Amino acid sequence: MKKSVWLILGILGVIVAGGVYAFLVFFEQEKPAIQVQPEARHIGKSLAVSVQDQKSGVAELRVDVVQQGKTLNLFYEKFPKETRLVEKTIALRPLPKGLSEGEAQIKISAKDHSWNWGNPVTVEKAVVIDTTPPQLNVLGSLHYGNQGGTGFISYRVSEKVPLTGVQVGSTLFPGHDLGQGRYVAYFAIPRDASLKTPFSALGEDPAENRTETAFRMVIKRKAFKKDRIQVSDSFLQNLLPYFTSQDPNLKGTPLEIFLAVNRKQREADHKELKKICRQTVPKPLWAGAFLRLPNSKLMASFAQDRTYYYNGKEVDRQIHWGVDLASLAQSPVPAANSGIVVFAGLLGIYGNTVVIDHGCGLFSMYSHLSRIEVEVKKEVKRGDSLGRTGSTGMAGGDHLHYAMMVQGEFVNPIEWWDAHWIRDNVDLKMKWFDSPAKPRPAKKSVKEAPPKAKTKKATRKARKP
Ligand SMILES: [Zn+2]
Repeated sequence: MKKSVWLILGILGVIVAGGVYAFLVFFEQEKPAIQVQPEARHIGKSLAVSVQDQKSGVAELRVDVVQQGKTLNLFYEKFPKETRLVEKTIALRPLPKGLSEGEAQIKISAKDHSWNWGNPVTVEKAVVIDTTPPQLNVLGSLHYGNQGGTGFISYRVSEKVPLTGVQVGSTLFPGHDLGQGRYVAYFAIPRDASLKTPFSALGEDPAENRTETAFRMVIKRKAFKKDRIQVSDSFLQNLLPYFTSQDPNLKGTPLEIFLAVNRKQREADHKELKKICRQTVPKPLWAGAFLRLPNSKLMASFAQDRTYYYNGKEVDRQIHWGVDLASLAQSPVPAANSGIVVFAGLLGIYGNTVVIDHGCGLFSMYSHLSRIEVEVKKEVKRGDSLGRTGSTGMAGGDHLHYAMMVQGEFVNPIEWWDAHWIRDNVDLKMKWFDSPAKPRPAKKSVKEAPPKAKTKKATRKARKP
C-alpha cells in the first residue's frame, strides 16, 4: 500500500480512539450514589443526605417531600465540575413551612456532569416525620439514696422510647417498659456520690428526639470501712497453685503473681460480669426482702477500702465490692430471691460462682462455692439451694462472697435485705403509677439493715482478699 493510505488509516485510528476515549469520559454512565440518614423510617430533628460521584462529579442535588399530594422543595443546588461529594443536613426542627408531622415521601434526585444527560437518579423513601421530643415525667419530686446503694425511679413517658433509662455520670442504666407508658429504672449510686452528682432520666423516641429530665437525689453519706490485709508467705504458697492454674503464663515471685491476679484478673472478672448483666428479663421476677445466708456472720462489708501489705510494705489497694458471710463450712447457699440463673461456673478470683437475674437489671452473685447445684437458664425461687459455700478462687477460708449488681455495677446488698427499705424505695414508687396526681416522696428511712456482726477494724490475716 501507499504511504498516504497508511497515514489516512493512522489518522482515522487516532480519531476513533479519541472518540471512544471521549465517549467513555464524557458520556460515562455511572449514576451518582445517594445515601440518606437516618436509615430508619422515623425521622426527627434533621435529615442527612450525601451524594457521591467519582467520575464526572456531582452536578445537582434536589430534595423534595411529598405529603398529602403536595410537593415541597427542601433543597436544590448546582455544583461545579470537581465536586465528588456533597453532604447536606436539612434541619426539620422547627418544621419547614408547609410540612406537618406524620407520614411523608422523601424524594432525593441527583445528576452528575456526564454528557449522558447527567445520569439522573432518584431515591424515594417513605418516612414518618416526628420532631416532637417525648414527654417524660419522673414520679415524685425528691428521692433518697445511700452512697454505694441502689436508686429506683418510676416514670411516665408519652410515647414508646426504645432508648431510655437513668443517666448517672457516663453510665446509662436502662429503664424498662411496663406498658401503658409506665417505665421503671434501677441505678447504682456511686460510692462517692454527693448532692452535686447529677441524676437524670432520659428517653429517646424512634426518630431520635431525646428528652432528659433531671431529678433530685438526697444522698446520704456512708463511712466505708478501711481494711488492712497482711499478705503472708503461707497465704501466697497456699494460693499459688490456684493462681498459676488461672494463667500458666504467670511468671515472677509469688508476690508478683498474686499482684497480677489481684489486679488484672479482678478487672477481667468485673468486665465479664458487666457482659453477663447486659441481658435481663424486662420485668421484676423477685418479691419481698432478699435472703441473707442463714446463721452467718458478716466478715467483710461492702465497698471496703482494702490495703494489702507484704512484710510491712503497702503492695496493693482494692475495693471489696460485696459482703463476706461466714457460716459452717459447706453450708447450703439459698437463692436470695426468685429469678433466672444467668451464670454458673468458674469466674476468676471469685471461683465457683452463680449469678441470678431478678429482672429489670437487678442481679445477685454468689462466689467461692465448693459446689454448684444449678445450671444456666434454670428458674429459681427464693430459698432454692444454689450450691454449697467453699473457698474456691481467691479465698483463704470457707465463706460466701455475696454481691448485688444493677446492670453489672455493684451495689450494697444490705439495702436489699431490708423489707422497710424495699417498701419505701421501690414498692411505694410503684404505687405512684396508680395515683399520679399526688405522688408522695419516700420516707427518709434509709437506715441500714440487720447484720450486727462485729467487723474487726484492726489488721486481719489475709483470709479473703
Ligand atoms: Zn469477698
